Amino acid sequence: MSDKKIIKFNDFSSYLNRQSGNHVCPICGHDEWDLHTAENAAIKSEDGKNKKYIVPTLPGSPRIDPLDAPLNQLYQSPALNILIMTCNNCAYMNLFNYQKVKEKLEQHSEDKGNTESRNESTEG
Ligand SMILES: [Zn+2]
Repeated sequence: MSDKKIIKFNDFSSYLNRQSGNHVCPICGHDEWDLHTAENAAIKSEDGKNKKYIVPTLPGSPRIDPLDAPLNQLYQSPALNILIMTCNNCAYMNLFNYQKVKEKLEQHSEDKGNTESRNESTEG
């Protein structure tokens, strides 16, 4: 897999399922969610050969002077990529930091890869 691998629905879903907390909506108490990832917004390039993805983002506001210290460490780039859980019942939205989830997913697949290769060596 390349470094440019995007987080798809199944990646985000399995990430959420590994978290120990419950998935009950804090507003209405229901537990069914829609997950919004880049895959949901897939569009084709003009030649139709490659898929393009639209990643949900929160826009950052530009600093007045480029030398000003950032007021908020989250906004060091023009936009913050996010993943969204939307409650099916009341539409409350939970936002996740895309980059941090991506790092956690990569860390998890490395750990899993190490475990699997160890298992293979003991079996073989
Ligand atoms: Zn809700």
